[in-house]
Amino acid sequence: LSEAARGAAILRTSSLTEALKSQAAAAKTAAEWTPSSWQSKPIKQDVAYPDRAAFEKTLAKLESLPMIVHPTEINKLRSSLKAVCEGKAFLLQGGDCAELFDYCTESQIDAKIALLLQMSLVLIHGLRLPVVRIGRIAGQFAKPRSSPTEIVDGKEIPSFRGDNINGFDPSERTPEPARLVQAYFHSSTTLNYIRTQLSAGYADLHHPFNWSLSHVQDSEVKAKYLKTVEALTESLSFMKTIGADTSSSLRGVDFYTSHEGLILEYEQSFTRKWKPTPGVNGGKEGWYNTSAHFIWIGDRTRQLDGAHVEYFRGIENPIGIKVGPSFKEEEFGSLLDIVNPSREPGKVTLITRYGCEKIEKILPGHIDAVVKTGHPVIWQCDPMHGNTRSSPESGVKTRQYSSIMSEILSALKIHKEKGTWLGGIHLELTGDAVTECVGGSEGLTDKDLSLNYQTYCDPRLNGKQALDVAFTISDYYRE
Ligand code: PEP
Ligand code: MN
Repeated sequence: LSEAARGAAILRTSSLTEALKSQAAAAKTAAEWTPSSWQSKPIKQDVAYPDRAAFEKTLAKLESLPMIVHPTEINKLRSSLKAVCEGKAFLLQGGDCAELFDYCTESQIDAKIALLLQMSLVLIHGLRLPVVRIGRIAGQFAKPRSSPTEIVDGKEIPSFRGDNINGFDPSERTPEPARLVQAYFHSSTTLNYIRTQLSAGYADLHHPFNWSLSHVQDSEVKAKYLKTVEALTESLSFMKTIGADTSSSLRGVDFYTSHEGLILEYEQSFTRKWKPTPGVNGGKEGWYNTSAHFIWIGDRTRQLDGAHVEYFRGIENPIGIKVGPSFKEEEFGSLLDIVNPSREPGKVTLITRYGCEKIEKILPGHIDAVVKTGHPVIWQCDPMHGNTRSSPESGVKTRQYSSIMSEILSALKIHKEKGTWLGGIHLELTGDAVTECVGGSEGLTDKDLSLNYQTYCDPRLNGKQALDVAFTISDYYRE
């Protein structure tokens, strides 16, 4: 052997030994994982149920209930997210900050699905790439809170933790286990309705979406939007004319569900062992969280040695991790090694949420740190959670459309400079005509917030503002 070949052989052997060692270590830790192993770890945002016996009974009930989503669907999303990770598709994720049981109505679900479909059409047109759609829906009930209590009418009471834990009304703040069962049924019903609508042709690309742009105040912006809508509708009608629109991928679309995996007892109950049947379906044998296709770890519960990371490392679902300004560069390697030891592309989505003023300072270093680990990740921009402020008019929580857009445009620019792919956006939105965020093409101001301020948690983009985001990203790619 030549010197060089010997050197290469040694290198190969030593990297092989390293790889085997790390695989063995990963296998060892993986072997110690069980759906309940998180229970021995320190936990944040835990709920203390006063009636422990009722809580245990509820969990037994949840464990007996059928899965909401199937592992084969989860595996399908997994391969779509691999494409996102490789820069061959874009991920659009959106929905309420906190879903309420009352949002489980035909009109509210329809509005949200139509909005996400319209946004995805605009994005497909701009990026010339497929769009993967994930709703923050059918299970996005639980909320992490900065404080466990709050003062209402001079009295300190437990904070509202989401419809699956307690009620918003001050008289309903004691955590009630039965709400977890209600959460299951509302999730199932919501997803069932989405499935019925999609199978009935609601997602047919010829669906008569409302593209009315009469609200757009700036004539230049309006002209730009009109150009996109015309090009879009023309492409669709051209495909129809030549008969190229009959494929099932144009007749219907995939739609996935997601929520923050916050209440680990609930998530554990829906963690089911599954293995593929040869000749029938593919996929990996393992533990699947069957309460949603995709779940994420919030910015408040992502401690390396904490219960949430422990739970998430054992499931086969693709997962998200929120990355806020306090995320330390040196944490990325360890965290990614724990949750994705096999370095599967698309398994982990890093959802960055810094705020429009901090992103320029923090994201470049975060990208460098992740690139250094060699881990493939999807970078997704959440331009909502770092841009919340109080309205000077009324004191309610709001977000400025321009700050949201500015964080997205910064993310696009920084990823381009770094040679990484901004794989998606993560938005809080609703199809209803709410007035919770200010700005956008309709020109909502602080004074307008009181017109239709509905949210019990964070302010959402309304349909028009959410479409503004899609049009602007689409433009970015077209120009
Ligand atoms: C959220 O997505 O609603 C949320 C609470 O986000 P974060 O964990 O990033 O604060
Ligand atoms: Mn939120």
